[in-house]
Amino acid sequence: MKTSEFLTKLFFPRKCPFCGRILRSGGDGAEYMCPDCARTVFIYSKADVLPHEALEKVLKLYVPLKYTGPAKDAMLRFKFGGERWIFEPFAGLLHRYLEANGGYGDIDLITCVPLSTARFAGRGYNQSELVARKLSESSGIPFRMLLERTSGSGGMTSAENYAGRSAERRFAFKAGTPPLRGLRVLLVDDIFTTGSTLNECAGILLSNGAGYVNAACMMSGRQDIYDAQREESA
Ligand SMILES: [Zn+2]
Repeated sequence: MKTSEFLTKLFFPRKCPFCGRILRSGGDGAEYMCPDCARTVFIYSKADVLPHEALEKVLKLYVPLKYTGPAKDAMLRFKFGGERWIFEPFAGLLHRYLEANGGYGDIDLITCVPLSTARFAGRGYNQSELVARKLSESSGIPFRMLLERTSGSGGMTSAENYAGRSAERRFAFKAGTPPLRGLRVLLVDDIFTTGSTLNECAGILLSNGAGYVNAACMMSGRQDIYDAQREESA
């Protein structure tokens, strides 16, 4: 172990993202949660390869965790509780999941869904970008910010707002980015809900030359994903 690594571990010991317990160093750095949470947090055994109807622009979707219980709590603390450190165990889990399911395949570039300026200012970090950059570091596949927000705060407070905004384009290809010329992109987001964000972002990447777009989200609360999983494994 390098001295800097040793000091980091001494002062910032690795913690379980779900219960906050300090993890005993396994040496290989492969542990991202405590044994108790490993038993209770639901992790899919294999990737969802649905060409989902809400995701016509996305070739494959990878979602390791079910958005419920301690996983949901950890995500809320990560997104809204200022617990930035959670990106590391989350990215570790997602990395391992992608590796185990061939999720990096022929991917040339990793990118993420951008956060609105207001959200970024409020939070100080883009949770999806932190995870995506860590995946890049772990996989050796370059990270590039390929998208930007075009509108408002993204913080929808009323049904009216929602209706008004859904018709409008919320994202754009980042100004000054060269065309993708067939590059295969892995798009990272935090939670898979309706799929409209991923689909819009993937569509922009495709119309700017991406060969294909796969998506990876930390978790989802959608029941249809779980049903599909069950059918496949039945
Ligand atoms: Zn735990």
